[in-house]
Amino acid sequence: MGSRHWICGLCLAVFLFARVGEAQWRDPKLIAGQVGFNIAVSFVGKMVVHHEPPGRAFKQALKEGSVSGLLAHTGYTIAGRNPNYALVGKTLVQKSSLTTRRSINGLPVFDDTFYSHWELTHSFVHFKWDGSPHVQLDAINAAFSAYYLFSPDQYAFDARRSLLSGSVVFVNHDPPPGLRGYYVPGVIWIDTSRDDAQWVLSHEIVHSLQSERGSAIKEWHYENIRFNWLVFASGVPAFLAGWPEHDTRWHEIEADEYAGSERLRSTETRANSGGASTPRAVRRRR
Ligand SMILES: [Zn+2]
Repeated sequence: MGSRHWICGLCLAVFLFARVGEAQWRDPKLIAGQVGFNIAVSFVGKMVVHHEPPGRAFKQALKEGSVSGLLAHTGYTIAGRNPNYALVGKTLVQKSSLTTRRSINGLPVFDDTFYSHWELTHSFVHFKWDGSPHVQLDAINAAFSAYYLFSPDQYAFDARRSLLSGSVVFVNHDPPPGLRGYYVPGVIWIDTSRDDAQWVLSHEIVHSLQSERGSAIKEWHYENIRFNWLVFASGVPAFLAGWPEHDTRWHEIEADEYAGSERLRSTETRANSGGASTPRAVRRRR
């Protein structure tokens, strides 16, 4: 099947999902962001890393990056709207990164590997299928998980949400006012009561998808350990939470829009805006 069929098929799928009625499916900003990112990464990678002529690189990047971007958009929307299906969304998002990485390296994208190669990082475990299963330890997520597991204080481990969200989830059932939640690689903290936790969880799950974005560019493996170093460039909003204008940064806007949390957030006062990703370190200093 030609790549044009893939693009038409995915466009149709996105269009059909859009009929379901959730605004995220057909949000042109979100789609353009995903498609633009993957086309740009593929194009630059092809030229810089593999010295392909710009004309050919752009043509290929346009086709492969578009499909990759639509896969990512589908995954982000599923995970943002339905935290219980976050693993499905995350699998599509990681499929998008895998597709763009193959595109950069000049490997075929629209062949059998489109069905047979999949990856999924659940908390600190990285699964890969490429005809046979591979399990690796995600080193960076494991380091963060270990650090936070040994400092649980008022948080309770939430097994169900941990299983379904793809990150280790801790919930604070009695949080101080203004706190909501935050994400560090592999771990989600929710500072909220049970009833209104869903949009906070969705927002943080989107951050966990963003943290996989860098692996579209490159990832490193050593023995049975995976190093997704670019997590630091693309997906650790907690590190940026103390920066000014936290809520207007692009990764926050994207997380809000996919999770549908923008409207809810705007009903809170600025005084309460500790940020949906306020890191524990910052809070402890207060
Ligand atoms: Zn956030």
